[in-house]
Amino acid sequence: MGRSTVRLSDDEIALVRESSLLVGRTLAEVARAIGPGVRTGDLDRLAEQFIRDHGAVPGFKGLYGCPSTLLISVNEQVVHGLPGDRVLRDGDIASIDCGVLMNAFYGDSAYTFMVGEVAEPVKQLLQVTRECLQLGIDQAVANNRTGDIGYAIQHHAESNGYGVVRELVGHGVGRKLHEPPEVPNYGRRGQGARLHEGMVIAIEPMINMGVKEVVQHDDGWTISTRDAKPSAHFEHTVAVRSGQAEVLSTFSYIEDVLKARHMALA
Ligand code: MG
Ligand code: MG
Repeated sequence: MGRSTVRLSDDEIALVRESSLLVGRTLAEVARAIGPGVRTGDLDRLAEQFIRDHGAVPGFKGLYGCPSTLLISVNEQVVHGLPGDRVLRDGDIASIDCGVLMNAFYGDSAYTFMVGEVAEPVKQLLQVTRECLQLGIDQAVANNRTGDIGYAIQHHAESNGYGVVRELVGHGVGRKLHEPPEVPNYGRRGQGARLHEGMVIAIEPMINMGVKEVVQHDDGWTISTRDAKPSAHFEHTVAVRSGQAEVLSTFSYIEDVLKARHMALA
């Protein structure tokens, strides 16, 4: 596993929460703008401006050479899609992943949006992936292990006939975007890194409608499903606590906008 896991003080966790809430507010701005005919590059510019207007910097841009503020992955794209000239179309889904760095701490969250009218089986994939995220969060308590999170996610996804991506995993969050431990979306109960109070982790199930296998595009970034069936991705930054995890990011700003636009999932 390499470096030992990081535990943050309550003051530090409060800063991660501030960064994570700004991610949620940024994604709410995206929610206001997204729809058929919208260019992914325009969503990226809007997000970057919003983050900078709030005294923060985009968490991904420049990290590992990432060129953008958002990573926008459409339909069969799983994660790490690069915003650009692509125009979103009616029936698409778009996983939009965003990070923020503010006051020396990162926040990280992702939401899969529906563009226009989405087919019922695809809605179901989004619903189950949301449920997978919640089931994972339920396991993010002190003295559990990362395998408890992974098992909960994998079991629910596979019970619904979906594939769980293996190549990409959740992670610790803090002064770096990616800290130990790795938080896989698959695993065995009682195995993996032990969770301690004050650890902050990103839980981010990537669930495929078809096979679990993925392929990487020639751009060196975009990851897609091997069978080209859709994939969904939801992510929260979470503090491990005794008894119940503390979710630091939020979808509530996003969903307030989506409800007002009659675009909410449920
Ligand atoms: Mg993310
Ligand atoms: Mg992440």
